[in-house]
Amino acid sequence: LEKKIAILEGRMPQKYPEVKYLGYKERKRILVTGGAGFVGSHLIDVLMTQGHEVIVVDNFFTGRKRNVEHWFGHRNFEMIHHDIVNPLYVEADEIYHLASPASPPHYMQNPVKTIKTNTLGTINMLGLARRVGAKILIASTSEVYGDPMVHPQPESYWGHVNPIGPRACYDEGKRVAETLAYAYAKQEKVSVRVARIFNTYGPRMHVSDGRVVSNFIMQAIQNLTITVYGNGKQTRSFCYVSDLIDGLLGLMASSYTLPVNLGNPVEHTIEEFAMIIKNLVPGCRSMVATGAAVEDDPQRRRPDITVAEEHLGWKPKVSLQVGLQRTIDYFKEELSRTTFLNNQTY
Ligand code: NAD
Ligand code: UDP
Ligand code: UDP
Repeated sequence: LEKKIAILEGRMPQKYPEVKYLGYKERKRILVTGGAGFVGSHLIDVLMTQGHEVIVVDNFFTGRKRNVEHWFGHRNFEMIHHDIVNPLYVEADEIYHLASPASPPHYMQNPVKTIKTNTLGTINMLGLARRVGAKILIASTSEVYGDPMVHPQPESYWGHVNPIGPRACYDEGKRVAETLAYAYAKQEKVSVRVARIFNTYGPRMHVSDGRVVSNFIMQAIQNLTITVYGNGKQTRSFCYVSDLIDGLLGLMASSYTLPVNLGNPVEHTIEEFAMIIKNLVPGCRSMVATGAAVEDDPQRRRPDITVAEEHLGWKPKVSLQVGLQRTIDYFKEELSRTTFLNNQTY
């Protein structure tokens, strides 16, 4: 059975992807919190392939061992099951601090825990960075702009967030995380980077992640109704995961220390987005239905990426069509995998 699943998932146990050899002077020890999640696991693939030592810290709230299991047993790879709300003592040269639920249904499930992860968890990681003298990159979000009154959103915009609404645990949690980063930078001389990540999608998103890309694709490939929340006139701009990873690596390497928007400026209404996905799935018979609007749903979102272009030389390369096609292929495999597993008797 294991072999069948391994073949079905396109992996073979105990065979590592190719890794470059780095001498001890170039090789860094890099801590990735939330490394078993969607973004973190793609980042780890690049860092490992470059030949660095990687320590993953994750409590598996929304992440999965399966996202990183192709590195299990590799001598440069280490995984710690740990909740970052509690202190952590390890050594590192760089920290990518990604641990936090990112999907609205997940972060709203336990709002107090979301706030603790983004505040206490971030203090612990900044404390660690201070103790060991590591550079730390904080994964912030376009949600710091809330339901924006300025469009597209430049980093200089202070945002429009409801501090007591259902999204506040995440939005305000990330805003405090940014405030903490700059307080530690000023007071404790910690070297910080802040990435304001806009909607990102790609393989390894969980089938029940709850965000729009996974919902719409899972619905389209099963001919189920595509559920648009509200009238579908709200907009988002979607970035393919490999572009985001390039941006995160570029930001960590750069000397620019203020917040940087990382996202794809191509904007669509959610209604258009439903049709784009439907048309990319051959023979899709799904209906597109509008339903109740979500409370405090930001009505438009599109990054102004001038800062990333000027300071990091970064801009997204993968078109929505290409990125979505890869993501649809991934979700089709996920669906056949779960169907296969559900049909097994043990
Ligand atoms: P994800 O849910 O797939 O990954 C988050 C990871 O953090 C998971 O592996 C989860 O188990 C782990 N985690 C959560 N709480 C933890 C805790 N207390 N201790 C240890 N680990 C914990 O989400 P993602 O899309 O990969 O997002 C990664 C980061 O990027 C998050 O900080 C998120 O806020 C940010 N971000 C993502 C997007 C996006 O569109 N993907 C957009 C904006 C910001
Ligand atoms: N911390 C941690 N790992 C470390 C260093 C610190 O988890 O390697 C935690 C520590 O428990 C503290 C937090 O980070 O709660 C902030 O540390 P800092 O040194 O800034 O403050 P203090 O220890 O004085 O509270
Ligand atoms: N959305 C939707 N149907 C879904 C999931 C989400 O219409 O099944 C909408 C949601 O209301 C929002 C947009 O799609 O306007 C993006 O939602 P998502 O949860 O992916 O991320 P957000 O940008 O809101 O954090």
